Order: sequence, then structure tokens, then C-alpha cells
Amino acid sequence: MPNWVALYYNEPIEIVSGKGNRVVDASGKSYLDFFAGILTNMIGYDVPEVREAVERQIATGVVHTSTVYLLRGQIELAEKIAKLSGIENAKVFFTNSGTEANETALLLATYARKSDQVLAMRQSYHGRSFGALGVTSNRSWKNNSLSPLNVHFLHGADRHLTQFRGLSDADYVKVCVEDLRHVLSTAVGGDVAALIAEPIQGVGGFTMAPDGLFAAYKEVLDEQGILFISDEVQTGWGRTGSAFFGIQNHGVTPDMMTFAKGIGNGFAVGGVVARGDLMDGLHATGLATFGGNPISMAAANATLDYVLDHDLQANAARTGALIIDGLREAAARLPIVGDVRGKGLMFAVELVDPATGAPSPALAARFMEETKKAGLLAGKGGLHGNVLRMAPPLTLTTEEAAEGLGIIVNALEVINAEI
Ligand code: PMP
Repeated sequence: MPNWVALYYNEPIEIVSGKGNRVVDASGKSYLDFFAGILTNMIGYDVPEVREAVERQIATGVVHTSTVYLLRGQIELAEKIAKLSGIENAKVFFTNSGTEANETALLLATYARKSDQVLAMRQSYHGRSFGALGVTSNRSWKNNSLSPLNVHFLHGADRHLTQFRGLSDADYVKVCVEDLRHVLSTAVGGDVAALIAEPIQGVGGFTMAPDGLFAAYKEVLDEQGILFISDEVQTGWGRTGSAFFGIQNHGVTPDMMTFAKGIGNGFAVGGVVARGDLMDGLHATGLATFGGNPISMAAANATLDYVLDHDLQANAARTGALIIDGLREAAARLPIVGDVRGKGLMFAVELVDPATGAPSPALAARFMEETKKAGLLAGKGGLHGNVLRMAPPLTLTTEEAAEGLGIIVNALEVINAEI
């Protein structure tokens, strides 16, 4: 394996089984999962509805043949997603990952607009392929990009910069819009194809644009017919509690959305849902060999039905608020906490050196070990590796939310006392 494949923790955890919202490692230790496999296990582990749907497909003897044959599971899932998307005359194309979904969206947008110019957000992460890396600004991957896409990175998740300090949300949005207009007026090589943005930046550390920013950007983009691609790989399916897709929190209907991660509840499913005219605009005949295969579709249809049948969006709102409120309360008395942010079951704690206010990746690493010991899985991220990001399965119970909150606050208190 390459030397850049990074495992969490001083001693990596080997997960061997799971049930509900908990997993068990090779030594038999159990963990409450507040990272859900980086948001892949959206409805927890060993869910009978998903397992049985997959087992039924396997029992037919056909794991997969090819996407040149009609796959009923694809049609069923595409219809559901198209309807939920709110996009006019929407069509869906299935892939195997978020990277591939974004690559497809960029292909559709650049081809439709006949332009290699794309807008993306600072601190973004969209995947590891040529195009997806091109629109990624997160340096952990960006360093390697020789993508030929012509990309301009926009403000939106950087309120902390000195130049923006003290601005109200409305004034920050105004400054960002002015910057966007400036970028557009200086763009070389013709019209801009699209803006791709994460409603809440995942790898970037759950950073969020303030209310009104994406709507204001959309207005400017619409003046020039520039397309809006919302990367919903982390924010989709009700996770933010207040909307089914993250961008809907901003009152914006995008031209395309990309998705992956949670929709297969562990099985590899990704895709693009886009305006029909954009989707049909490619002069191509083709398929993705494994994209939307019967096993993935069985898992994804069962997962999506489960989310809708159990109104897990409402559960995300309820349990997420309980945790975020609790974290804010604790943060007020813990100088190592620089910020608490989040929406629904997607929340983050930023750790800083209390003396200087500087980001502290060392404290974040310490938190990871402390919560591991206490039996909770969390994630790490952000530009400086000092952001603890957490996103439990949407099936989290109120009791588990309280239990997880207790472990997190306790770990923060221990670390705060140490320094
Ligand atoms: N977009 C976002 C917002 C992501 O968080 C990720 C994965 N971290 C991707 C795209 C890439 O998805 P995948 O790893 O499935 O290729």
C-alpha cells in the first residue's frame, strides 16, 4: 500500500463487526460510532432491511452482469432521487463513488457550456481524480494536482480571516459577491462552466458558508447561465436535519447534485442527479460497468426507503440539536475549544492552543486517543487537522446521543485540565 494511506490512531483500529450504531474491534472492544465510516453507514450496522434486500439479490445468482441490461433497481432509485432532488425534469446517472460522481458532473457542465473554466470553494474536497482534484483546494490532496481544468477558488467558508473579521453575515456575503463578480470579469478563455460547492465542507472541517451566500452566488451565476453543482456526498439524505439535501438549507435549487457515501449504507453507490437537458446533452453512448449494479441498488433502495419511512431527517434534527447544544454549553467553560459548529448530525469541535488561539492538531490527536479509550469513534479534519468532526448514523437514539456527548465532553475536560 502507498505510504500516503493514513490510518487513524497511534494503534489502528480493526473493525470486525457491527450492530446498530456500534462496532466492535478485533480485540472485542465496542465503540459507539460517531463517524459512521466517514458518513457511509448512514443507518447503522447490520440493518435487517438492507441485509435482506442484498441477500435476496445474491440468492438470484446474479451479483452483476452488466449495465447494458435493464436493471429495475436503478430505475426505482433514480425515480425516487429525481423526485426528492427538486430539480426540474431531473435524470440520474449512477457511479461507484463520490469522486466519479463529481467527475461526471464536471464533464456534463464543461461540455454543456463548452468551457474548461470552473469555480470552486476554498478548502473544498471533491475527490481524487483529475477533474475532482482540480476543484479541490484542500492542500492534503491539492499538492498533487496537475489537472488541466481552469479553476478559480471563491470565498465562503473563511469568515475567520482577518480581512473579514467584524463583518456581519450580510456584509460578508456582499464582499464575497463582489469578489465573485471580480473573478468572473477577470476569467480568461471564455464563459465559466459551473460552480461546484459543498453546502457544508466535509474534509474541510465542517465549515459552512453563512446563510444567504449560496443564494447570492446563484443569482450572479444565473445572469451568465453558469451552472451550480452541489456536492451532497456528505450533506445529503436528511443529515443536516433542516433539509433533505444540504443546499436546500440555502433555498437554492442547483442544476446538478452529486451523491455517494451514505446512500448505499456501506455498499459502493454514487451518482449525479441533474437537469434532464444537461444529462441528455452528452453525445455519448455508454455506461459505467459497475455503476448502479444490482447489489448496490438493492442496498441503496432499502437504505433510502428506511430513511424516509423512519423520518430520519427529523431524528437528525432532534438528536443533532441535543449534541450541538451540549457541546456549545461545554465549550463556554473550555478554553481549548475554539469553535463548535454543525447542523443536524454533522457537527464539529475546533481545538486551539488556549494561550495563542492557534489551531492545535496535537490536541485533536490527543482527543482521538482519549475518545478511543472511552469507546467512541470520531473523525478529524480541517485545514490544520485540528477539527474534530463527527457524523453518527442517522438512526442515533436520544440515549446514544447523550452517551456520545458525555464521552466527548469528558475527553475535552480531561485534555483541558492537562494543559
Ligand atoms: N465529495 C465530498 C464532499 C467528499 O467528502 C468525498 C469523500 N470524502 C468525495 C467527494 C469523494 O468521494 P469518494 O471517496 O467516494 O470518491
